Amino acid sequence: MKAKEQLCSFCGRKKTDTLMLISGVEGHICENCVEQAFKIVEEELGASKSKKKHDTQKGTGLEDFTLPTPSQIRQHLDEYVIGQDDAKKVMCVAVYNHYKRILNINKTEDVEIEKSNILMVGETGTGKTLLARTLARFLNVPFCIADATVLTEAGYVGDDVESILARLLQVANYDASAAERGIIYLDEIDKISRKSDNASITRDVSGEGVQQGLLKILEGTIAHVAPEGGRKHPDAKYVKIDTSNILFICGGAFDGIEKIISRRVKNQEVGFKTGHHDDVEKKDLLKHISPADLKQFGLIPEIIGRLPIIAALEPLDKVVLKNILTQPKNALIKQYSKLFELEGIALSFDDAVIDFIVEKAFEFQLGARGLRGICESILLDYMYETPGKENVKKLHISLKEAEKHWEKYKTVFKAA
Ligand code: ADP
Repeated sequence: MKAKEQLCSFCGRKKTDTLMLISGVEGHICENCVEQAFKIVEEELGASKSKKKHDTQKGTGLEDFTLPTPSQIRQHLDEYVIGQDDAKKVMCVAVYNHYKRILNINKTEDVEIEKSNILMVGETGTGKTLLARTLARFLNVPFCIADATVLTEAGYVGDDVESILARLLQVANYDASAAERGIIYLDEIDKISRKSDNASITRDVSGEGVQQGLLKILEGTIAHVAPEGGRKHPDAKYVKIDTSNILFICGGAFDGIEKIISRRVKNQEVGFKTGHHDDVEKKDLLKHISPADLKQFGLIPEIIGRLPIIAALEPLDKVVLKNILTQPKNALIKQYSKLFELEGIALSFDDAVIDFIVEKAFEFQLGARGLRGICESILLDYMYETPGKENVKKLHISLKEAEKHWEKYKTVFKAA
């Protein structure tokens, strides 16, 4: 009589179709099902472990965390971010207060300290993302960047607001309690403003509706998040994330808001003095930004209310651009020098080349964002040709060479 073929008792695959079939007392299991079962156990235990921790520690989850003082945070920021003194100070204090609030959450029953999310306003390439990222890295908390323009109201094509939390959860290695103390940088918040004077007949799927969706998670809610990549098996649970201690740092260029600020400032001063602010520069106007200006720009008042701390970033002038190019710990010039050093080549430039790069970046008005593209265009041929050439030990770039390479590749790298 032919022996009955062994099958996996879970998925039914035949032994011949499996790599391995492990036998138990009354059944068998194949390698695929072992793997899936392992994942289920891991997720279940992981979730209940973090819940336990959460419950027993009454929600701080930051017991090993030493909170640096605002000036210590500032010192670290100064190593990576050039200028932006006012914004740095505002951010250091806000972040310090945020974590102080969480660390003392059980000691402040008489006065409830509210969460204060931050809004950064400043032209593109002025260091908004860099500031947020540097802060999070220094504090060693989970950090992710999301783009408000891809968000849509739940039910429409696009990412809904919970997807941001899924990303944070992923960065936190699926540890919900770590994610709940993280920082989210939400870029381009200005692009979801309500276009009041430009009413569209199509539905507002990316404007006010998204702002409404964001309100809850900015303020604090228990969100049900599907870990990114979707649910791997039907029993996988949504992870609950409490957003009340997640710090949201929103950023935007708010193009044209200077006009709104200037109009308001002028109106307020009618009857007092006139004329003297005509020479108030554009960059100084941003410092006077107020919630009223944001409202007029198109953010709904509820969102503005949940972003009570506003940090204005200054446009970068040539001196700052030059410093950015050469000074920070990971300044671009240092990075390129390192790249060549790894090939055994000492890279140097005429001083005029640095000024040339700055001039071009300034022309493009991309803030520090333009610097890299210009460096790439100047160095591309060298980075292509020198690897493998053992006899090249030094490389000096003169202004003439720089100009020549820039002309050759400027269309390729201009907007990098
Ligand atoms: P934003 O978010 O304001 O558009 P980013 O922070 O992404 O700008 O900056 C773009 C690039 O320019 C990054 O590579 C960043 O390192 C650099 N950069 C911008 N501003 C500064 C600054 N103030 N100090 C040092 N680097 C800067």
